[in-house]
Amino acid sequence: MVGDRAQDSSGWCAAKWAALAAPAVMVVALAVGVGCAGPEPMIEPNEAVEVLDLVAGFTDATVSRVETNPENGPRSPMPFVNPERGVLFVPLGAAVEYEFDLPPGGVLRSGDARNVGSATGRLEVAWVPSNGAEVLITRDFSAAPARIACFGNTELESGRLVIRGRGQATDDDPQAGMRVFNPKVIAGGPCVTRRAVDRPRVEGRKPNIVVYLIDALRADRVGCYGYRRATTPHIDEFASSALIFTGAQAQTSWTRPAVASILTGLLPQQHGAIDKKDALSESATTLAELLSGAGYESSAVVSNGNVSQVYGFAQGFSYFKYLQEVEIGEHVVRSEDVNDAVFSWLDDVRGEDPFFLYIHTVDPHLPYAPPESTRRVFAPGVLDPSIGSVEAVNKVAADRHLVTPALIGELSDLYDGEVAANDASFGELMAGLVERGLVENTVIVVLSDHGEEFFDHQGWTHGNTLYAEMLDVPLIIRIPGVAPKSIPEIVQHVDVFSTLLDLAGVEAQPGVFGTSVRQLWSGDSEREWINRGLSHLQIKERFGEAWVDPGFKMLTRRLGNGEIRTSLFDRVEDPSEHVDLAEERSELVRALMVRYREELAAAGGSLEGVEVDAEREAEVEAQLRALGYL
Ligand SMILES: [Zn+2]
Repeated sequence: MVGDRAQDSSGWCAAKWAALAAPAVMVVALAVGVGCAGPEPMIEPNEAVEVLDLVAGFTDATVSRVETNPENGPRSPMPFVNPERGVLFVPLGAAVEYEFDLPPGGVLRSGDARNVGSATGRLEVAWVPSNGAEVLITRDFSAAPARIACFGNTELESGRLVIRGRGQATDDDPQAGMRVFNPKVIAGGPCVTRRAVDRPRVEGRKPNIVVYLIDALRADRVGCYGYRRATTPHIDEFASSALIFTGAQAQTSWTRPAVASILTGLLPQQHGAIDKKDALSESATTLAELLSGAGYESSAVVSNGNVSQVYGFAQGFSYFKYLQEVEIGEHVVRSEDVNDAVFSWLDDVRGEDPFFLYIHTVDPHLPYAPPESTRRVFAPGVLDPSIGSVEAVNKVAADRHLVTPALIGELSDLYDGEVAANDASFGELMAGLVERGLVENTVIVVLSDHGEEFFDHQGWTHGNTLYAEMLDVPLIIRIPGVAPKSIPEIVQHVDVFSTLLDLAGVEAQPGVFGTSVRQLWSGDSEREWINRGLSHLQIKERFGEAWVDPGFKMLTRRLGNGEIRTSLFDRVEDPSEHVDLAEERSELVRALMVRYREELAAAGGSLEGVEVDAEREAEVEAQLRALGYL
């Protein structure tokens, strides 16, 4: 028994949990019904009450080495705590067990949980009821959304919480393990069952779904979109058996709102996660929530903090791994590290159900620092690779006098090296899926969230404008049984959401802006495809709107002096958007603006905007800085 766990709680519930910590015979009497006995108030569903502090309660815990992992066992140290910092350390191959009475709806919750040393480990958490068999809570606690693992039953239950360090150290490192900050068992949380997402059984076999998002990849740097250099042989090979959408448009030009549109089917103005401080509202219905509700196992491995749990993107995922630089020892997590985490989920965590797996890599994103293997090929003339650092590019972006054609070429070459490195990882991922027999029944989507600028319109990176280099994105979808095809119609991020639901046989909720693109490959539909795209940008003082149709693109942009400028480009004659026709075609500009406004008005209903929790945001700050966001 752990003796001191209830002392820091306050008020009536402290008395309740102190009572729960007492011998079981007394507990049973109290546990009849829910909440406190007598006239005292019931626990509010979301009122968190601390049951056990795993650091403070460590002195009463049992520590051991895990017998099933003998290679690590003999060498690894025993678990220990650092009470001043609130840290529990569990070496790989070791376990710590806490015996206590688990109240209904209990959850294990922690602050950061991360690898230490050379480990690529994970924390396995299990509950052993005193009158039953062990129940695995999670194979990888650090990937539990918001680091909350639900395991309380509907009734009070005595037993043991077991926490094991699993995995192999990447070299001979006895110090390898997992460090967890402030791990606590809390009662009165949102869960009442043992599974974070209670999935119904799937009738018939639905296809698995993999979404592979390469951050900041512009379409014109991809071979199958016509690039002259061989940056993407693996994506090209994949595309040869897939649908290539040559008119795909991003909904905006930076990560958070773009991915929010992919995951909700809503325009940025509808989902509201548009500015630096915005999080995706809990009231959003996400692809992961809908698929989980239909029996899918939803899982994500992401390497950009903008789509982490901090900003609300873990909604609906039963497994959500946000890889941060601290785990890998580099500033930016590379796509091969993302692959490692994906394979480890496929092999160690995944269950029997069909799965939805969202993978987000950032190689082409700033900094442009490709590995030697691709730098040699794509940027052999770059003598000083440090020109691709966040600091160096920011400096060039702030002073256009520093820009020379040679510098543009060199940065662009480094970017190509990054694209090629990410492509190699995609090739390895595909090989890994083939090896595991997972290609035949899996829908695979390759896309990017937005493009990247190399002074095309006197700017750099992304999130500043909505020109073609921002909005023209690759979108390739491989559907088992569907013949490859190049599709020129304009499709948008929001359509990815609707298409994947359609393929999974799940109905979207009303109010979604996206449309399934099925008619574009099947050819049968009662109605014509609405061939247009709407994009939007609002970040700090920057603002822009874009309307894209097969003939023209209408674009507004707030200039440095606050003035809103509207431009018009001929998409056929001037695809890179350098000849502004707005003055000579002012009637057309007005007509397109009216259509844009009408569509927006018809789309209607926006979600309540939510501002991100500042304390939580600090968790991702270092990584966002490394990517050049701060
Ligand atoms: Zn991005």
